[in-house]
This record gives sequence, C-alpha cells and structure tokens, in this order.
Amino acid sequence: LSTADVIEEHRICVCVRKRPLNKKELTVKDLDVITVPSKDVVMVHEPKQKVDLTRYLENQTFRFDYAFDDTTTNEMVYRFTARPLVETIFERGMATCFAYGQTGSGKTHTMGGDFSGKNQDCSKGIYALAARDVFLLLKKPHYKKLDLQVYATFFEIYSGKVFDLLNRKAKLRVLEDGKQQVQVVGLQEREVKCTEDVLKLIDVGNSCRTSGQTSANAHSSRSHAVFQIILRRNRKMHGKFSLIDLAGNERGADTSSADRQTRLEGAEINKSLLALKECIRALGRNKPHTPFRASKLTQVLRDSFIGENSRTCMIATISPGMASCENTLNTLRYANRVKEF
Ligand code: ADP
Ligand code: MG
Repeated sequence: LSTADVIEEHRICVCVRKRPLNKKELTVKDLDVITVPSKDVVMVHEPKQKVDLTRYLENQTFRFDYAFDDTTTNEMVYRFTARPLVETIFERGMATCFAYGQTGSGKTHTMGGDFSGKNQDCSKGIYALAARDVFLLLKKPHYKKLDLQVYATFFEIYSGKVFDLLNRKAKLRVLEDGKQQVQVVGLQEREVKCTEDVLKLIDVGNSCRTSGQTSANAHSSRSHAVFQIILRRNRKMHGKFSLIDLAGNERGADTSSADRQTRLEGAEINKSLLALKECIRALGRNKPHTPFRASKLTQVLRDSFIGENSRTCMIATISPGMASCENTLNTLRYANRVKEF
C-alpha cells in the first residue's frame, strides 16, 4: 500500500479491518476463519458439515475499498481512511468516519486508542491521529491565513438520548429549527490549541463514558460515541469532522431478549444502524432527501450528510474467530450494502 493508492475522488470509502485472535480465543482454540488475500479483498472460510457429516469450508469473498489484515497498525488504517478526509474540513466540507462492527471486534481500539491494559493510550487512535493532522495542516501558509479556531465535542447517544461526555454525562436536548438546522442544546464545545489539549479531552470523555459500568463493555457497547473536531472562522462553522464509535451491531439481536430495557435498546440500535446505512447511501447517490430523521444518530449528524462537500468513510471491524462467524458475515454484508447502488 502506498498513500498514492488513496482514492481521493470518492465520497464514500468503505473498508474492513480484521483484528488478531485475542487471548480468550486462543485459550479456547477458536479457529481463525478470515483471510485477507489482497489489499481490497477479505474472505470468510466458514466450517460446515454436509448431511453425510463430511466437513468442508464454505468460502465467501467480499471486496471493499481496502481490506486491512491483523498486522495493520492504527496509523496505517488511519492513513487510508480518515486521513484523506482531514483536508475536507479545511475546504469548508463535512467529514464523517464510522467504526462499525460487533462488540469486541476493535471499534474502540481503532477510534479511541488502546484501552486494554493498564497504560491506557488514546494517542494512537483515529480521534487523536486526526487531531494531530488538523494542527499540522493549520500551520500550512495556505490554511494559516484563514485564521481558523479549532473546537472539540464528545458525546454519546444511548437509547435515543444524547449525553455530553465532556460535561459529566449531562443529558442534552436535540432541537430542529424551521430551517431544518439540528442543534444539540448546551453541548460543550471546547477550544483546543494543540494535540495535547485534544488528548486530554479524549481521556475525560472516555473515562466519563466507561464510568459506572458494571462489566467492562456493558454500557459502551450499547451506545454510539461521537467525537467531533470543528473548525470555525469568526465563530462561523467552516468544517466539521465527526468520528464515531458505533454501538455493537450484534445488539440488534437483543430485540428478542426477555428484558424489556435490553429489547428497547436493541431495537433502537437496529433502527439507527439502518438509518445510517440509508443516509450514507443517499449521500453516494446525491439524493436530495436524506432520511436523517429516522434516528437520533442520523439526526444529529444531519449537516454532515447533506451539502456539496460531504465525505464519509466506514471502517467495518471484524473478529477473526469461528465463534464470531455469523456476526462477521452480518458486518461484511452491511458494509457491502453501504456502497452498493
Ligand atoms: P469494540 O470496541 O468493538 O467492542 P475493542 O476495541 O474494545 O472492541 O477491542 C476488544 C479487544 O481487542 C481489546 O482488548 C482491544 O485492545 C483488542 N483489539 C482490538 N483490535 C485490535 C487490533 N487490531 N490489534 C490488537 N488488539 C486489538
Ligand atoms: Mg468499544
């Protein structure tokens, strides 16, 4: 892969990232059923059994803009996905980057950085890498003369409600005015002067996001986290980059759960992920009508889905294990549909 390979002209980039087998999967000797035979192809080799009990592998091939294998670093994934969108916000555009996939497949690792060990490090995640490059570009003479200010927001959407991760999870209202402008009332927008400032905010937001959780993934797997970098010129919006760590897509299956709250959450997640797919597809077709009202997620991202200069990329994260096969196939099919016109 070289940076020259980056497809610049496309408004929608969809790629897939395979993570390595983790300790748990290795312990139970789960099989790695995913291969990445070339830089844009991923294959699923699903073990199956015939009626006469002979075993065979059912191979399925999926093609994307990029396919990243389990040796690919965050920096590399970033270079081919979010990096090309940083210029967009300097050119008065709107950019979005989504991590989509089942819980445990690597969404947060990709977007927020590494939170597995004791030394939590958000500096290697796409939030931070994008912020780093925003400040680098800001120094270029061409952009410097625009005199732009940089701001950041960080919020969470949980069961159709918005919570500010930079303000102790304050619950926020979403209003739509007569001109169809959507506003998250009272959302903290912090001015940031350097990458360090941004890292601090990511840390604040992340610990706010995970605080009060019973098990490690309980709440965060059911909520969408939205981190935004906003460029302003004389207080007016110049460009906005929204980076989103989506709720686990397997939660849609919870619609049959015995617990009412879990069922409602599952339905809400299903609804928002379907709406998201339709909004991205509308963006690709340049359709004037984007069904953004179908969910809170797409509603708050409305201004990013309309307009001449909107670009998006989706990183579908997948687990390599045989045990995750069904979820992995669902993820790959969804990601495929996003770009199928
Ligand atoms: P999700 O946010 O999708 O639920 P996480 O990002 O929390 O998943 O990842 C689950 C675990 O797998 C974490 O311990 C994380 O550090 C690890 N992990 C995820 N992706 C990778 C990767 N590409 N390389 C190494 N470890 C990874
Ligand atoms: Mg996560």
